[in-house]
Amino acid sequence: MRKELIKAEKMSILTQISASISHEVKNPITITQGFVEALEDEDSKERRKEYVGYILEELQRAQNIIYEFLALTKPEFDSMTSINISKELSYSVNLMKPFAKSHKVKIEVDNIDDQCMILGDRQKIRQCFINLIKNSIEAMENGGELWIKANKNSNRISIDIIDNGVGMTPNEVSKLGTPYFTTKEEGTGLGMMIVFNIIKTMKGEIKVESEKGKGTKFMITFPLAS
Ligand code: ADP
Ligand code: MG
Repeated sequence: MRKELIKAEKMSILTQISASISHEVKNPITITQGFVEALEDEDSKERRKEYVGYILEELQRAQNIIYEFLALTKPEFDSMTSINISKELSYSVNLMKPFAKSHKVKIEVDNIDDQCMILGDRQKIRQCFINLIKNSIEAMENGGELWIKANKNSNRISIDIIDNGVGMTPNEVSKLGTPYFTTKEEGTGLGMMIVFNIIKTMKGEIKVESEKGKGTKFMITFPLAS
């Protein structure tokens, strides 16, 4: 009986995941289709270039969605190794610099110089930082400042990500991490679910303080590897 229940639960999770993937990938595919069709009849070189840009962007988005779901379904301990978290933080910040620049956001980083090791998965921790940084930048519609501060005590590392963007109501904060919760026109509403999941897998914690119209502070901590 118990075995059957587990099997049924696994099947329903699988059904949910497949439904989510097809739901999420549908948008970029539809958009891509539209631009490919438009390309056929377009003579202006400039506009063709613009369309190709959209197509590449949408293909990338579809790929990201699939990648995010794969990351979710991977076994937890698949690739847990000792990783230098301050190094991965710097790496992720650098990746996001062009995006920040195009949104007129200045990033201030106060990182740890030291080796700071935690047990985790390098790709996933990057994905987590990137999602958080991206959300903060997107929250600053007219530009702003993004503060990233890392600190270390005897057995934990803490990372704060602080923006002076649109902020959230308590109700919005409570919905964070719920699949498909988004306030953005082009949002997937999957980023925070993935962030929560990754942090949990690595035995970390995440807290949020936010005020509508003022800004948001995400506080993350991870146990240091001994
Ligand atoms: P998406 O970014 O695709 O909307 P996420 O799961 O990453 O999906 O985020 C869900 C929602 O949480 C966002 O649409 C936004 O409303 C809110 N949010 C997340 N981070 C922030 C932030 N730093 N400032 C304000 N709102 C945020
Ligand atoms: Mg997001």
